[in-house]
Amino acid sequence: DDAFLSVRDLHVRFRTEDGTVHAVDGLSFDVPRGRTLGIVGESGSGKSATGLAVLGLHDPRTTTVTGSVRLGGQEITGAPEPVLEKLRGNTVAMVFQDSLTALSPYHTVGHQIAEPFRKHTGASRREARQRAVDMLGKVGIPHPALRVDDYPHQFSGGMRQRAMIAMALVCDPQLLIADEPTTALDVTVQAQILDLLKDLQQQTGTAIVLITHDLGVVARTADDVLVMYAGRAAERGTVRDVLRTPRHPYTWGLLGSMPRLWTPVDQPLTPVPGAPPSLLTPPPGCPFHPRCAHTERVGGDRCRTERPELPPGRGAACHLGEERTR
Ligand code: SF4
Ligand code: MG
Repeated sequence: DDAFLSVRDLHVRFRTEDGTVHAVDGLSFDVPRGRTLGIVGESGSGKSATGLAVLGLHDPRTTTVTGSVRLGGQEITGAPEPVLEKLRGNTVAMVFQDSLTALSPYHTVGHQIAEPFRKHTGASRREARQRAVDMLGKVGIPHPALRVDDYPHQFSGGMRQRAMIAMALVCDPQLLIADEPTTALDVTVQAQILDLLKDLQQQTGTAIVLITHDLGVVARTADDVLVMYAGRAAERGTVRDVLRTPRHPYTWGLLGSMPRLWTPVDQPLTPVPGAPPSLLTPPPGCPFHPRCAHTERVGGDRCRTERPELPPGRGAACHLGEERTR
């Protein structure tokens, strides 16, 4: 098994004033080196909480994380903060939607790329500065030697996103977590950044977890996909299989807005009718049953009482049989 990232029975629970929110409820998946797993779902589906758990970034005062998260065989759930600190930026790095909060306005872009490199490799200032110039070139910033001393506000949104990717990749991480990395950008820039991530992955063999609400982004960039609903995996498979022969009624709904398979959509998905359930009081049985139009085909109360499990490998967590059709 050559999975670099291996997650087993992950649970993430937030303590709130209203009670415990079960944000991730028994999630398992693998990401091999050189492959991209797209985690897709609506907001509140637990996809970002999953990314934070892989980075060991949840605040232990408010959040309980159980289950297993292994990076290259090393268990990180419950690992001491100094160990996690060493992994972050070095073995595993992250890119978020909002480059304005990720980049400090008080330091030059070049400094922010060079510093983690210095910290992790012990390189000299001069070497690190040259590395920052090289990285800016790699992510497609024109005339990088002239831009390395710019501040983030002197960059466009797309350039800042590229700089953040340069910062994330400067130490050659083996895993990159990208949470809605292109959501704030216009469609053309979005496509360029996604293609850049793919190109860089081909050069480095980095494993990528791409978190998004947009199946079009997954279709363009990912190899495998995990569809999340209410903190659980609804469906899993290769992007090809899931987009061609989706098996879960929720995936059918998400795909309903895609005009043609393999065509990246330029607009947000038409939401599936209804709203995701509160994770303070999740519904019994299948968490999707309040929004599902197919419960009668399963017969009786099964969808409302019995929780469908996701089989290993390709499959869907749904009581409909293998002969299911849309
Ligand atoms: Fe719909 Fe039932 Fe399948 Fe859940 S288990 S997705 S409610 S048919
Ligand atoms: Mg999110």
